[in-house]
Amino acid sequence: MDLSRTRILIVGAGQAGARAAEALRDAGHCGSITLLGEEQHPPYERPQLSKAMLINADEEPRFIRTSQDWAAIDIELGTSSPTVAIDVNRRAIGLSDGREIAFDRLLLATGTRPRRLRDLENCGLRVCYLRCIDDALELRRSLVQGSKVVLVGGGVIGLEVASAAIARGCEVTVLEKAERLLPQVGSPTLSAYLERLHSDRGVAICCNVSISGATAKGIALSDGRTIPADLVVVGVGVEPAVDLARQAGLKVDQGIRINSSGMTDIDGIYAAGDVAEQWSGWHGRWMRVENWANAQNQAIATARSMVGQDNSYAAPPWFWSDQFEANIQVIGHPGGADEIVRGDVARGRFTTISLRDGEVAGAVTVSSPKDMALLRRLAASRKRVNPSDMANPAFDLKQALAS
Ligand SMILES: Cc1cc2nc3c(=O)[nH]c(=O)nc-3n(C[C@H](O)[C@H](O)[C@H](O)COP(=O)(O)OP(=O)(O)OC[C@H]3O[C@@H](n4cnc5c(N)ncnc54)[C@H](O)[C@@H]3O)c2cc1C
Repeated sequence: MDLSRTRILIVGAGQAGARAAEALRDAGHCGSITLLGEEQHPPYERPQLSKAMLINADEEPRFIRTSQDWAAIDIELGTSSPTVAIDVNRRAIGLSDGREIAFDRLLLATGTRPRRLRDLENCGLRVCYLRCIDDALELRRSLVQGSKVVLVGGGVIGLEVASAAIARGCEVTVLEKAERLLPQVGSPTLSAYLERLHSDRGVAICCNVSISGATAKGIALSDGRTIPADLVVVGVGVEPAVDLARQAGLKVDQGIRINSSGMTDIDGIYAAGDVAEQWSGWHGRWMRVENWANAQNQAIATARSMVGQDNSYAAPPWFWSDQFEANIQVIGHPGGADEIVRGDVARGRFTTISLRDGEVAGAVTVSSPKDMALLRRLAASRKRVNPSDMANPAFDLKQALAS
């Protein structure tokens, strides 16, 4: 088969689907490319939905390209077009309106959906989730001066919304069932810093709590307290959108299983982005990575392998978060009692580094992006570093890369 002329279909018009479509054209693919999404919008950037879009009343969504720009590179974009079935034998997908589209190569980039707390939804409280433009616009309208906003979940989404809600004059409470904020990251130094940052700005932080019930007036905790709420925003993680993949008989575990080239266990069908689970040589386990950089870079690498260019993707996971004035960046898996701290935690400008077998296994930077640029390179290089150098604030991290 002349791969450059195959019919390529992409299901899921988010970060991964959109970047894969562009990368296919960049790689010289001349066959048809169809990009299908269930949302009514062309592909857009999600990170600003919990940041600038909530804080600034006139902030517009950031589209990756306009509909006309997709047409200009000869990509057929179908919005409001949910795919409801995949026929693996006939190599065709079915849309909700009954149409069928045939493919030679298929990429599943269906992303994730927020995990829902259905018990809370039925108590007369206003409960929101945040994943798409429409969620962000609705939430922005609700963040009004003096309203009582309760965030369920002290992870990245909860803390970014808390920061935006304070900027809009709301009274904000964060409920987290773990002992500390952002427990997923695993850095005790970062969690302690965030607790202070948010408390200083007026956020009421309640860690180590569990919800026992709710009424139209607020949320009841199992320690007997009731937290009054006009609005509850739930940020308790996501679930991969794997229903189509399961129905098609693809191998699915925590996500759609792919090899190092992005292909599933069925020839010609690929997956990328939040929905895909890939072996990480860096971590030594299967992993689904939920961040912007992975969605983009894994999708680009997968697009190249779809058209026969030898490509494999491997990189330590990296993400950022903006809360109040702090820019937080995390690479790999930080944490542990022996994390090395450089800089000034009290002043909100610091770096933590976690080593495993002498290599950088994880790191956090707070408002220190230059350190993160070097630590990303160090982590990817798997160079062994000297712990006392890392702990010495006068040691220039560049030297560790050069050695
Ligand atoms: C509010 C928010 C803030 C974030 N902030 C950051 C950040 O600061 N830093 C960071 O690194 N990451 C951040 N992320 C994560 C990052 O945006 C995601 O990792 C990235 O968007 C994943 O891209 P994706 O294309 O794999 O999935 P998605 O962006 O979820 O796109 C998947 C698309 O597929 C569509 N779809 C699903 N099923 C079907 C179907 N059957 N038919 C058709 N279409 C379908 C979905 O509707 C969706 O549009 C944030 C995410 C959110 C929600």
